[in-house]
Amino acid sequence: MITRSPPRTQPAAWQRELAQGFADPRQLLATLGLEPEACGLSPGAHARFRTRVPRGFVARMRPGDPRDPLLRQVLPTTDELDAAPGYGPDPVGDRAAERAQGVLHKYRGRALLVATGACAVHCRYCFRREFPYAEALASAAGWSEALDYLRGDPSVHEVILSGGDPLSLADDRLAALVTELEGVAHVRRLRLHTRLPVVLPERVDAALTGWLGASRLARVVVLHANHPNELTAEVARAAAALRAAGCTLLNQSVLLRGVNDHLEALTALSEALFAAGVLPYYLHQLDRVTGAAHFAVPDSEARALFEAVRARLPGYLTPRLVFEAPGAPAKLDLLERLTPG
Ligand SMILES: *Cc1c(COP(=O)(O)O)cnc(C)c1O
Ligand code: SF4
Repeated sequence: MITRSPPRTQPAAWQRELAQGFADPRQLLATLGLEPEACGLSPGAHARFRTRVPRGFVARMRPGDPRDPLLRQVLPTTDELDAAPGYGPDPVGDRAAERAQGVLHKYRGRALLVATGACAVHCRYCFRREFPYAEALASAAGWSEALDYLRGDPSVHEVILSGGDPLSLADDRLAALVTELEGVAHVRRLRLHTRLPVVLPERVDAALTGWLGASRLARVVVLHANHPNELTAEVARAAAALRAAGCTLLNQSVLLRGVNDHLEALTALSEALFAAGVLPYYLHQLDRVTGAAHFAVPDSEARALFEAVRARLPGYLTPRLVFEAPGAPAKLDLLERLTPG
């Protein structure tokens, strides 16, 4: 009997691009002509949550500007090491919501599958930044336990692939997973929560749109961009390709001090999203994860800012300002929250 190893395929262009991203914050700053001290660079923060940024995302930053809104999202700084009461490693109660290996089932009708712990970019404010648990949820043993759970619960009509970033997985693995989901009769919708089409638009190639476009499931892609400078012509092209593959495109952002905590940034973000064929969905109040306290905008200020945004934009370009409370049946609206006292 002749046994053959499976054919070795070339890595896709996006995978090469991904591998070439910045992993050393000093190199990143040198590219921008910045001094580490002037930017508050912290090797300790980098050691705690490694730096990772695609080159194409860095190309959208303003050289010489330590306050650049894209740089702030990815640069490990000394602020991250400040102790902050009320901040912890699992701010949204993910561990308690795990129903099967990798499955977070918090809300009626939709279940979230942590398909991988990996991301193309490491966002300093990420609520899963303190993982190992994201990595642990996305088990090396594969998705069989998760699929069994989803098959066994007929109330699940929508499966959300999240992570990490599901699009950091190769297309053959993703397509195989989606084929399994398509075989579950009660699953109607597939949702992807991904930042890759924004930070590495090369990810949206013919291989991806090929299997995505052919799915029997209704497809929703929720992108993640926080500032209008993230949205280039290449991102718009990636969005157009996803739409052509039949996907409904939405965006979620996080309200971040020093990044998008002003009226102009938020309105320009909505306008730029619309121009790219994407509707704003959620603007999240920051989850209180260890290391991210310096990004927080107090609720009262967030509400006032958001009221100003609402007064400027049509309703369909106004995201919902939400926060997550562990145990709640849905994301909660910050404008409706009753503040004690
Ligand atoms: C945010 C989230 C969802 C999606 O909520 P929608 O309001 O439908 O966007 C689903 N599952 C989990 C675990 C979530 O955290
Ligand atoms: S892409 Fe999403 S999951 Fe990954 S680090 Fe950024 S916010 Fe976190």
